[in-house]
Amino acid sequence: MEPPLELPTDTVQRLAAALQCHPTDERVALHLDEKDELKHFKEYFHIPKMKDLPPIDLSLVNGEENAIYLLGNSLGLQPKMVKTYIEEELDKWAKVGSYGHDVGKRPWITGDECIVGLMTDIVGASEKEIALMNALTVNLHLLLLSFFKPTPKRYKILLEAKAFPSDHYAIESQLQLHGLNVERSMRIIKPREGEETLRMEDILEVIEKEGESIAVIMFGGVHFYSGQLLDIPAITKAGQAKGCFVGFDLAHAVGNVELHLHDWGVDFACWCSYKYLNSGAGGLAGIFVHEKHAYTIKPALVGWFGHELSTRFEMDNKLQLIPGVTGFRISNPPMLLVCSLHASLEIFRQATMKALRKKSILLTGYLEYLIEQHSRTRTAGAKGPIVHIITPARIQERGCQLTLTFSIPRTNVFQELEKRGVVCDKREPDGIRVAPVPLYNSFHDVYKFVNVLMSVLNSTTQNE
Ligand SMILES: *Cc1c(COP(=O)(O)O)cnc(C)c1O
Repeated sequence: MEPPLELPTDTVQRLAAALQCHPTDERVALHLDEKDELKHFKEYFHIPKMKDLPPIDLSLVNGEENAIYLLGNSLGLQPKMVKTYIEEELDKWAKVGSYGHDVGKRPWITGDECIVGLMTDIVGASEKEIALMNALTVNLHLLLLSFFKPTPKRYKILLEAKAFPSDHYAIESQLQLHGLNVERSMRIIKPREGEETLRMEDILEVIEKEGESIAVIMFGGVHFYSGQLLDIPAITKAGQAKGCFVGFDLAHAVGNVELHLHDWGVDFACWCSYKYLNSGAGGLAGIFVHEKHAYTIKPALVGWFGHELSTRFEMDNKLQLIPGVTGFRISNPPMLLVCSLHASLEIFRQATMKALRKKSILLTGYLEYLIEQHSRTRTAGAKGPIVHIITPARIQERGCQLTLTFSIPRTNVFQELEKRGVVCDKREPDGIRVAPVPLYNSFHDVYKFVNVLMSVLNSTTQNE
């Protein structure tokens, strides 16, 4: 997580000086796109057209244009190869029926194993440490069943306030499963009064003070609402020094920021694949269990796909458990979900996380810069700030998403954006999340978004 050699602001200003224009000029965006070595990757995706979006107002936009899709943090766009890969398996099924288990590009028996190698660089782990299975919350439950073994002295799970509801419920119900008092055992850490994001020093202090009573530390790597990226290696180190297991929900981190789960020594992690990994709603999720636990931490619930392949079909009911995370698999892999994830992971393999992150830092930095420039001109008229970015400003503390809040009702702003073909989302209590994704978003997308946002804010203010 080293910072880039040149800060995004400096890049934008240097470019504007070279082009002899203002940094907010469209020419800067066009030039950044021209120089972008990853620009061709957007051709690999279906980008929705404005006219097909349900809330669009065709009197305000040209329906033939591409939508300004900034919601890859919630649902990634469809890689064009998804259809081809799904059709390959449907054809195989039609032509050879059950022989499909053993033949073709993705023999169904080992469908997940055929593509797991494409995930290694994305999470920074070896194939033996990753399994592709189920959905995210299910996997979180399975992991907690193995890693959360409360004792009278060590019985807490540490998590962040405003954790994603599903994670919160999963942890709550795991505590109940063990007959624990939820209030005492769920150690929730909140941002300080008046602050939106967590401070690392506060997290480390709780671990230092209460670590001996904490069994499992479980944070979101990147927070779904604020977009804050936590210092995963520092939390891991501090937690393990106190004897805790440290796990992360990487739903908003995977495919967004660089991860080195193995080298960081993280105990376990889970993620979904339909956000930045573009596998389609309900796509095949992933889990990581560090190699160091391969022979000591066992799955609590077992199924036949945890049994060694060489003897799995002897059907003798004598479990030969595959060591490590592969043994956590319970059922046979869902073939059609393997296809869509396959198509997307191949694109990641070509683009590389390193290059994607490099572009992402500049793309989001450009978004932040434009918002700040426009806000500055607006507030010169002493009207008070209109747009506030709650996501941390430090590059090391965020991925591609910025969360914006407004000094006027957010619902109006959001609806006006939707009518104009901006796809982003509103999240309680008062934020709008925007995530320019380096695989298929351009600098011009960001430029257009900020212009639409500012014109919406201007007209809303005038109407008041
Ligand atoms: C998206 C998301 C989920 C969704 O869980 P599913 O089991 O895939 O429905 C859970 N937790 C976090 C942190 C998320 O961002």
